[in-house]
Amino acid sequence: MTAHARVVLLASFLLPATVFAQAIPDDIQEQAIALRDGAMQNSIAYDVVESLTMEVGPRSAGSAGDAAAIRWAVEKLQSLGFRNVHTDEVSVPHWDRGTLDVRITAPYPQSLVATSLGGSPGTPAEGIEAEVVRVESLAELRALSREQLEGRIAFVDHVMERFKTGAGYGVATRIRSCGHVVAAELGALATVIRSAGTSTHRVAHTGSMLKNNVPGTIPAVALANADADILTYAIQSGKPVTVRLHSSARDLPRALSANVVGEVPGKGELANEIVILGAHLDSWDLGTGAIDDGTGVAIVIAAAKMILESGESPRRTIRVVLFANEEFGLSGAKQYALDHANSIDQHVVGLEADFGPGAVWKFSSQVAEDALDIVAELHQLLEPIGIERGDNKSSGGADLGPLRRTGMPILGLSADGTEYFDYHHTADDTLDKVDRDDLNQNVAAYVTAAYVAANIERNFGRLTPNASEQTCAAEFD
Ligand SMILES: [Zn+2]
Repeated sequence: MTAHARVVLLASFLLPATVFAQAIPDDIQEQAIALRDGAMQNSIAYDVVESLTMEVGPRSAGSAGDAAAIRWAVEKLQSLGFRNVHTDEVSVPHWDRGTLDVRITAPYPQSLVATSLGGSPGTPAEGIEAEVVRVESLAELRALSREQLEGRIAFVDHVMERFKTGAGYGVATRIRSCGHVVAAELGALATVIRSAGTSTHRVAHTGSMLKNNVPGTIPAVALANADADILTYAIQSGKPVTVRLHSSARDLPRALSANVVGEVPGKGELANEIVILGAHLDSWDLGTGAIDDGTGVAIVIAAAKMILESGESPRRTIRVVLFANEEFGLSGAKQYALDHANSIDQHVVGLEADFGPGAVWKFSSQVAEDALDIVAELHQLLEPIGIERGDNKSSGGADLGPLRRTGMPILGLSADGTEYFDYHHTADDTLDKVDRDDLNQNVAAYVTAAYVAANIERNFGRLTPNASEQTCAAEFD
């Protein structure tokens, strides 16, 4: 042995093994790249979203469309060759939006494009007609006195900002879900909000007004952005402005829905560990639920199907879960966590697709610190398809929330949300908004991440369990 060889040998003993160890072995990398590149030429995802939106269409919780979607999903997963295809019952609230008419009655008549928020009670048959009090934020609403708002209609006119990340949606949803609580507390008869959305067309964006299933107290509607401008203009004229609302929205008895599950079974000693791919099967009722969340359903099914088709069983089981009722209270996500309370630790990592069909541009995560090297190597496989590395604070998505809060790590693939909120929760959420190439790029990203997660020796550790979601109580602090 030469002196040089001795030094090299010595060095290899002294340096920690992790400096050299590859988290994702070459053979897994090669197969992941093959799947990734194959996804770009694949038509499964588009076929799935086309079938769901054309053959089922709108599918809000508890509706006939919801039941049809469950049947559709079971048949689709079975016909694609998934194993252990089954439904897990979920009790869901069932709300019917009925009809809605909103108009300015003074100082001049003007009909407004509006939609009821999910969970809104209806108005009395004669409607509600009252003066409008306009504010621009929840803080301004909260600062009103009872004298200023009692017997009137609160108008929260917050303009949602457009961001690639969708960052403007957080504030807007807080107004949607807590505005009516604050307004009712101050004696308002109804709440009108500017839509939590960025569309410039005369379409209004619906969405749940519930927070932690607290029932809607007073009627709440969202105006199209253009119509919020019309109402603001009227108010800025300085004369008192009155609005009349007629709504037949109502709660119906709770209904049964279901989470629909299909698997690509693992093989070997890690087979009882689960990589979960989630999306939600329900949609709002105004469009056909193409981008929210037909594309998510399509992306996770297509990614798992590609691994199924590769002919080689993954080491861990890949479980596709199509969650019931995300939109109106996360019923399916909560039920899934309850149903699997004894096997939460077997869920080694989760990926969710619920941000539309825009191309994935960022890969974030929320994994244990000592698993960050795996994520870094995985990012190397995603970078060639235009994906940058994000932070280690990914929330994953709403449906994975209950599992994440109990410690399940998250791999987060962020779709470009620049245009998502032009269509989200509106009548414009239809198939024509889906670009095949962007959809396939999503499949490429998901199949790469899922394949690696299901096959590497190590896992992503566990997260520190954290508290549950916020309530509206903070608005009264
Ligand atoms: Zn969604």
